[in-house]
Amino acid sequence: MIDEYSLSSLTIVTPYEIKSGASIKISQGKIMDFSRSRVKDYEIGDSYILFPAIINPHDHLYGSYYPKVGNGTYICWLPWDYDLKSSPVYEERNKNTPFEIYQIGAYKNLISGVTTVHDHIPHCVNDAYIDKLPIRVLRNYTLAHEASVYDLKWGDGVDIEHKRAIENNIPFVTHIEEGFDEESLRGIDILEANKALSEYTVLIHGIGFSEADIKKVAKRKAHFIWCPGSNVYMFERTAKVKELMQAGVNISIGTDSPASGELNILDEIRFAKKVYGEMYNEELNDETIVKMITVNPAKAFRVQDRLGSLEKNKSGDLLIISGKKGNPHSSLINAGLEDISLIFLEGKPLYGDDKFESIFRDLNSEYIRIKIEGRNKLIFGDPKGLMEKVRKNVGFHKELPFLPI
Ligand SMILES: [Zn+2]
Repeated sequence: MIDEYSLSSLTIVTPYEIKSGASIKISQGKIMDFSRSRVKDYEIGDSYILFPAIINPHDHLYGSYYPKVGNGTYICWLPWDYDLKSSPVYEERNKNTPFEIYQIGAYKNLISGVTTVHDHIPHCVNDAYIDKLPIRVLRNYTLAHEASVYDLKWGDGVDIEHKRAIENNIPFVTHIEEGFDEESLRGIDILEANKALSEYTVLIHGIGFSEADIKKVAKRKAHFIWCPGSNVYMFERTAKVKELMQAGVNISIGTDSPASGELNILDEIRFAKKVYGEMYNEELNDETIVKMITVNPAKAFRVQDRLGSLEKNKSGDLLIISGKKGNPHSSLINAGLEDISLIFLEGKPLYGDDKFESIFRDLNSEYIRIKIEGRNKLIFGDPKGLMEKVRKNVGFHKELPFLPI
């Protein structure tokens, strides 16, 4: 088996800089440098663009089903949660095993260019599945569901979970101010009162953030995850993202689960751009958006030493898309599932166009053949068998638009 190779003659977006006609050398699953390997080189070609693989910093893999559920506009997430859990879609979803749903979520992310996900679910639920999935699900975090008296009581409370995060140098992750009731709007104050707002804190949603909240988040160097698709679906509005940017907060974009969010991260970033344009009457820069799904989430989740950018010694987590004319960053923002041409996790190919079959063979990657949006693709594992099981479980030919197999 080959343990060193290079990919050459492509455009590389690190994402700090753009290099054309460039090469990247991978050895033992890590980025070695930007030269051609003498052991094995694959000419990918000028019409392809290489990015660090996408990080989806907010998903609930256990909610990977379709269609969306809800009858908004809601005052906060709680009545939506009632609607979800009393819906026929939820009943249908639960005919599948949790592990089947987790695999659906993993493949949903993989085929949209994601190799790393944060699954906002308690460890007692997802620990059993994480190592059996085709993508990386971040294992090291502490969490709360939210910071309100009526939240779902995940973890041991915001104060204890946050303290544990500091002790272990891992993130403390929580939904916050996902609503406009009196309790939701006190979210940041509740975290402050519990000494749980710091550079270790990763805040999701924040649709109720006031100007004062934004100042506190920035001052404490907490990180923010923006899920505009889910927010607009449930509440017809989203967080004051421009004000958060201006305050210097580290912002990432996540999908939330497809029960409320966009179908995948590619749809989510396009939705983010659209919503920003409508809110502020100006364009959210494509390079900024690319950072919100690569370097920014790597920093928030404290894995920037190995993930989020293409730099020497970082993990060989690579995403190659077929380019469109114009700026490479814009090509990613406008990419469809058919444009996701090749994905590597720690140097190992997991998904890609069948024209790259020799790479899968040489690197000993197991794969099957599938068709996505009319293109012939190779993919690790057996998502075809998975969809057959789902159809058997629910008793009809179920279609999941984020996993069109
Ligand atoms: Zn969520």
